[in-house]
Amino acid sequence: MPSVPPCAHAIVGGSGTAAIEFPEALGDPRVRVVGDPIMVPTPFGESPPVKRLVLTREDGSVREALVGRMHGWQRGVDRHSATLALFWLFREAGVRRIIAEAGAGSILQNFRPRDLILPHDVIDLTPQVSGLLDPEHVVVMRAPFCPELRGAMWEQATRWAADKATRAFDRAIYATSQGVRFETAAEIAAYARLGADIVGQAISPEVYLAREIGACYAAITIVLNYAEGVRPKWDYELIQEILQDDARTMGHLLVEALVRTPEVPGCACLSYRKRVASSDPAAAMTDTA
Ligand SMILES: [Zn+2]
Repeated sequence: MPSVPPCAHAIVGGSGTAAIEFPEALGDPRVRVVGDPIMVPTPFGESPPVKRLVLTREDGSVREALVGRMHGWQRGVDRHSATLALFWLFREAGVRRIIAEAGAGSILQNFRPRDLILPHDVIDLTPQVSGLLDPEHVVVMRAPFCPELRGAMWEQATRWAADKATRAFDRAIYATSQGVRFETAAEIAAYARLGADIVGQAISPEVYLAREIGACYAAITIVLNYAEGVRPKWDYELIQEILQDDARTMGHLLVEALVRTPEVPGCACLSYRKRVASSDPAAAMTDTA
C-alpha cells in the first residue's frame, strides 16, 4: 500500500477554488507543490488525489499541508464515500488542523452574493457516516468549528471584504443538503424554519469526520446565490461569474490563514472527542484528556 507522509495541516477545496489549479495558479512563491498527487486505496474506495505543499512562513520556517479537492473530483463516486476516503488519508497522515471553503446559497434575505461567511454551526440533512473512521471514539459537536482556525480565517476574510467592497460575517447556521441537485422552495422554507441561514452541499460530513480523527476544522463560505424561493429568481450565470472572479482570492485566503495559525493549538476541540469504554458501562464515555 502506498505510504501517506506525515503532515499536520490540510486544506479541503470546494466550489470557491474549483475554477483554478490550486495552489499552482496563485503564483505565490511561498507555496511549493512537492511530488506527485497522493492517491491511496482506503476501506471507502480510492482516495481523491491529494497534493502535498510546503508553505514558507514569514519567519522563514516551513509548514507542510495536504490539499484535497472535493468539488466534482470524480463522477460516479458519492460524496460521502469520497470524503471518508479523504479523511481516512488525513488520519493516516496525522492531520491535526483542516481548513475548508465552500459555496453557499443564502436562505436569509439580508446576505448578498459575494458575501463571505464563516458558519458557526451546522444542520446536517445528509445520511450519517459518523463512527466509521474511529469506532473507539464518539464526538461531541459542541463548537463544531475551531475558534482558532476561525480567527485566522476571519482576519483574512475581513481584509478581502475591505479590498473588494464586499462583506464578511462570522455567524450563520449552514444546512448541508444531499445534492447534487438544488433544493425546492418548499425545502428551503423548511430549512429556514429549522433555523438554517445558508445552505450548501459541503461542510458535512467533513466537520464531524475531522473531529473523529482528532483534527480541528473550520470553513469559510462565499455566497453564490439566493436559495430557491428566497427571491423571485436567482442568476445561474452570476454563480459562474463569482466562481471565476474570486477563485484566486479564495486560494490566497486559505494559504494566508494556514501560515498564520499559531504553532501550538490553544483551543478545546480535542476535548470534545471522547473515548468509548464499551466494556465498562459505568464509564461508557470518558475524556481523552
Ligand atoms: Zn481547534
